[in-house]
Amino acid sequence: MKTLRLIQGDITIQKVDAIVNAANTSLLGGGGVDGAIHRKGGSQILEDCQKIRARQGGCAVGQAVITSAGTLPSRFVIHTVGPTWHDGQDDENELLKNAYLNSLKLAEKHQLATVAFPNISTGVYHFPKHQAAKIAIKAVIEYMQDAESLAEINFVCFDLENFKIYRQQLAEVDQNQFQVLGI
Ligand code: ADP
Repeated sequence: MKTLRLIQGDITIQKVDAIVNAANTSLLGGGGVDGAIHRKGGSQILEDCQKIRARQGGCAVGQAVITSAGTLPSRFVIHTVGPTWHDGQDDENELLKNAYLNSLKLAEKHQLATVAFPNISTGVYHFPKHQAAKIAIKAVIEYMQDAESLAEINFVCFDLENFKIYRQQLAEVDQNQFQVLGI
């Protein structure tokens, strides 16, 4: 059975195959989780991002790219770009779903087993947290049903508000279908 795990804390210390970065379209780093990943992972991650920029000019909203993880304990960093919240009038739901799905697709393409997600778009991009959690969990559940290499997804909540929201929503996941840990 596949596993969903809730973790409260810092995604940069997770020992998984890939951690996901809530990046921006430039791929050049920023604040929040993006800043923490580049700061703790060292210059290799930015060098890899710059190579991707040279090839394809950054990363569009809802898309994802993969780099090494530098000195972080994970093997890879998957950089995805979530939408900025504009009152729900700008395809934000669909774009957030795409950010999760495209990250998972990239993980499968690289035959990874464990991936950790932060709460994409719920920081400076101001996506409403309940709604973002619902979209994230639904996208992951749907994708994991047919996934081959992926065995475990970790939802890493940095702030207590997101942690409580995820605890509540993950408690409703069918435990005959997924092993749900950390709730
Ligand atoms: P976005 O621009 O997508 O909103 P942010 O980095 O501002 O990205 O916020 C996304 C989420 O990442 C927020 O819920 C924030 O609390 C969380 N976050 C910030 N730092 C970390 C970290 N070190 N590990 C995990 N999550 C983090």
